[in-house]
Amino acid sequence: MSEFENIKKANNEFVQSFKQGSLPTPPGRKIAVVTCMDARIDPAQALGLKIGDAHVIRNAGGLTTEDAIRSLIISYKLLGTKEFYVVGHTDCGMLTFQNEGLQNTLKHDTGHDAAGIDFLPFSDLRENLRKQVDTIRSHPLIPRDIPVHGLIYHVESGELEHVVTLKAEACQVA
Ligand code: ZN
Repeated sequence: MSEFENIKKANNEFVQSFKQGSLPTPPGRKIAVVTCMDARIDPAQALGLKIGDAHVIRNAGGLTTEDAIRSLIISYKLLGTKEFYVVGHTDCGMLTFQNEGLQNTLKHDTGHDAAGIDFLPFSDLRENLRKQVDTIRSHPLIPRDIPVHGLIYHVESGELEHVVTLKAEACQVA
């Protein structure tokens, strides 16, 4: 069976027992999470989230890119979230390459110049996480009364490690 067939079959089964068709659009627990696309992270299970509970914004690295910020602004301003979580993780693929190598490979494989694309790799997991949290905290369009938590998910144990929380003017380091 192809993966597409697998997905269709799984969805047919999902529909049979689906009972959450009348949830409201705003997340029930008023939280938004930014995390990596890594296949080993199941935000629902790791954070104890149910359908309808939270916004989960994912990209390579769990980075607070311009597009992640766009989503967070919509999340709080239009859909009422009051608390943000940034979740990095151990063994992140973003720790394993550098822009130049990927840009050169792309140029070689496609013939197109990728030199203008910053793929945003990083070399220090904790330092990067703090940077992502800072980016949200210092954004002029995100109110300072929204607490921003930085956590590291350990893919080896499933543990969520609290690294930093920035709220109001105070900086609280775990
Ligand atoms: Zn990752």
